[in-house]
Amino acid sequence: MVWIQVYTDPHEFIRSEKIESVSYRSITKDQSEDWIEIIARPMGKAVLQVPVNTGKFPKTVSDQKTWQRLVDARARQVVAEVIRVVSDKEQRSSIVSLQDLITFDFEKEAPRSLDIEVWVWNIPCHNCQKETPVVYPVGSFFGYMLEFNFLSNLPLLLAERFPFFKKGAPKGKDGEEFRNTCTHCGEPQPDWRVMESYLELVNTPGLVQEKARLVVPLTEEEKLEYKKAGISSSW
Ligand SMILES: [Zn+2]
Repeated sequence: MVWIQVYTDPHEFIRSEKIESVSYRSITKDQSEDWIEIIARPMGKAVLQVPVNTGKFPKTVSDQKTWQRLVDARARQVVAEVIRVVSDKEQRSSIVSLQDLITFDFEKEAPRSLDIEVWVWNIPCHNCQKETPVVYPVGSFFGYMLEFNFLSNLPLLLAERFPFFKKGAPKGKDGEEFRNTCTHCGEPQPDWRVMESYLELVNTPGLVQEKARLVVPLTEEEKLEYKKAGISSSW
């Protein structure tokens, strides 16, 4: 017979033979939404808490299902391990703390996409001086300010949504990059001008005409960067 230490109270113990079953539930801990707690029944006491490393609860329904399946699969592994310890009849009158015996190191899940905010506002065209709209991503990626080329899939998505964000005139060489382009004279606006104007917007937020959100799928390489950085997934 084993005495199991209750997770939430180090001075409380449960006799393992009194435990009829164990179950798990998702909990939020230190702002992480991907922890589970193992509950001993019928006492209803938590005997273990484990991070399942699945990242934050996703925003889209299909991702939520995948996320939940992964949580369940990992939780079942933990439950199986708890049952093994609790059912051990060899240990006599020993006192065990499950958190010392059961250590899982689940691999961190990388997000499949990033949710990014983009702003649209007007600047004077550097060629014809007429007001023309420009778009720019807001926020940061690994602590760096977001730029068009930080995420491989971002420029194309911007181009689909904002027709003035496009590759240069046909005379342009292959590999020409997408840029904000004047809606009057067709001249690409240099990135540094857009950036400079963006930095000034902080003081004049009323000039932003549109704020939109884009879901940008990450490439395999970008997912790896995420894992290396140890950034918690938001799918
Ligand atoms: Zn122009």
